[in-house]
Amino acid sequence: MKPRVAFFDFAGCEGCQLQIANMEDEILKLIEIVDIVSFREISDVHSGDYDIAFVEGSISRPMDEERLKDIREHADILVALGSCACLGGINKMRNRFDENELIESVYGDKKLVSNPFFNVHKAKSVDEVVKVDYYIPGCPIDRNEFKRFVISISSGKKPELPNYPVCVECKKKENPCLFDEGRLCLGPITLAGCNAICPSRGSPCIGCRGILEKPATECIEEIFQRYNIDYDDLKDKWNMFNFGDKIWRKE
Ligand code: SF4
Ligand code: SF4
Ligand code: SF4
Repeated sequence: MKPRVAFFDFAGCEGCQLQIANMEDEILKLIEIVDIVSFREISDVHSGDYDIAFVEGSISRPMDEERLKDIREHADILVALGSCACLGGINKMRNRFDENELIESVYGDKKLVSNPFFNVHKAKSVDEVVKVDYYIPGCPIDRNEFKRFVISISSGKKPELPNYPVCVECKKKENPCLFDEGRLCLGPITLAGCNAICPSRGSPCIGCRGILEKPATECIEEIFQRYNIDYDDLKDKWNMFNFGDKIWRKE
């Protein structure tokens, strides 16, 4: 029997699900190996009977936590889909501010906090609320990585993420290093898997896939010293997707 998969969204732009919806012909191939029983972006069919839950978005409200726990209870496997779900992502940028003040400045009415739809807390990654079995990072996710993931899991294999930095993929593509142009790139500390898409198009990596599990700290420190990188600049850039997560030093 094919695994039944369902997609769920929380606080995010739904761009990760859109990546999957945009797979077009390839999505037909995926349907041969999994049954998609719930995917609001492409179908109004919904079943609460699923084996694998893909969860997109960060968790921002008590009502979201309850919904997520319910999803966890029903799923054999829960996968965090995209940086918002894996890391908290860009939603965590607001964690440095007071929630009530944010509500007032956005909606002009602090009293809205008594409404459960506006009752927000600090943004959380999915694994700050429930156990996560697998992570597919990226803002948005990489379609090919998603495809490889589904093929592995549906054939009973453990899906693997790369455990090396974006620089490896960048060097394989023989890109000139952006540090040599005086630009700050987070490729040395960021988990690969996107095929170095940003530096390959002339934009520095901004760390959307999160930090490497075991960064080669001495080597990376040497790179940052060689290019005279200010730690606060590094941290500012890092905070865009990884607010609250420690880099490896001075903390
Ligand atoms: S990770 Fe990026 S693309 Fe995916 S939902 Fe969050 S903001 Fe959107
Ligand atoms: S441009 Fe960025 S990702 Fe590419 S080699 Fe340089 S530091 Fe690494
Ligand atoms: S290069 Fe960096 S910012 Fe760009 S997609 Fe890859 S991990 Fe994300």
